[in-house]
Amino acid sequence: MSKYSIDPNGYYGEFGGAFVPEILRKNVVELKENYLQIIENEEFKKDFQKLLKDYVGRPTPLYFAKRLSEKYGTNIFLKREDLCHTGAHKLNNALGQILLARKLGKTRIVAETGAGQHGVATATVCALMNMECVVYMGETDVKRQFLNVQRMRMLGAKVVPVMSGNRTLKDGTNEAIRDWCCNPKNTHYIIGSVVGPDPYPDMVARFQSVISEEIKYQLQEQTGRNYPDKLLACIGGGSNAAGTFYHYIDDERVKFYAAEAAGLGLDDPEKSAATIHLGKKGVLHGSLSLVMMTDDGQIVEPYSISAGLDYPGVGPMHAFFAKCGRTKVLAVTDAEAMQAAMELTKLEGIIPAIESAHALAMLPKINFVKDENVVITVSGRGDKDMNTYVKYFNMEE
Ligand SMILES: *Cc1c(COP(=O)(O)O)cnc(C)c1O
Repeated sequence: MSKYSIDPNGYYGEFGGAFVPEILRKNVVELKENYLQIIENEEFKKDFQKLLKDYVGRPTPLYFAKRLSEKYGTNIFLKREDLCHTGAHKLNNALGQILLARKLGKTRIVAETGAGQHGVATATVCALMNMECVVYMGETDVKRQFLNVQRMRMLGAKVVPVMSGNRTLKDGTNEAIRDWCCNPKNTHYIIGSVVGPDPYPDMVARFQSVISEEIKYQLQEQTGRNYPDKLLACIGGGSNAAGTFYHYIDDERVKFYAAEAAGLGLDDPEKSAATIHLGKKGVLHGSLSLVMMTDDGQIVEPYSISAGLDYPGVGPMHAFFAKCGRTKVLAVTDAEAMQAAMELTKLEGIIPAIESAHALAMLPKINFVKDENVVITVSGRGDKDMNTYVKYFNMEE
């Protein structure tokens, strides 16, 4: 065990744990007692790897971005998670969890979704595995992300609009947990990021760790060295970042940089989603981490132009890595992210998701030495964000 590992009680340092209602205790214990044994089983690994290859389209390319590299005076490689089936890294995790749910004998899947990407990934694997699928989504998000609602419905999922709270991701998550409480026997809850009660953060990180597993051998092939100097990723809950960092966590030659969505800036917590910068220690959705909340413990509704990053919590791993200095966390505003998205589009012909653009927007904020190797994970593609881009850049003509 290293100083960065999760401990047997599910804590990264002071963050993590499993804070669940009594009625769910049994499910969480069932998961905890079985997940490692199942996912390390050779037959499971073979099934998972085959689907990652033939269905998701892995390995995703590690692309040397020549013009971007020239602009920033260093060697920049893009890890192209945007090329995964359904458009983002989320399918890696959804696929792993549905295979696990089958092994546990579950027949029904519930999930939460904000921007709809995790809902689409979950609906996709449920269609693939012929499982019943219910996705809880705040009613505000149902309106904002209607294309993804239509995709989920076409895939056969039942999308339930949630009318409580601000009707966004946090409220969808509450409702998914409530459903799981009512149907603990036959239902598995597929959480979409490295959040939630232990063992979810560790389990999701393991499913996403295929990203850094590939980076290792792809860098070896392309640079003759299997590690980069710097790794950059964006953080909502933190799953693409966890996957990007995973196999380098104990390799301190590799510096980690994570971008949080600062929305309109750090001055007004109601106009930001920078949880690590602005959050306080608290429990949200089953784990102790940093949470955007008022002094008396009310959750603050976060804001970001990117619907995939406006979560009021963050995975306990990232709260810990930030606190002990393993990861440098930078706050990126809406405007900086939008500029970075346009820059990547113009220089490399790649339209990124707005979430991923937050990672790219760290480039002007970091001092690079000439000829270091830098890997940035492009977590998803920008198709789902075209309306926002068109409006923001006045491209309506
Ligand atoms: C959901 C999403 C994110 C944020 O989630 P993480 O768990 O932090 O990775 C980032 N990028 C894209 C494209 C997403 O769909």
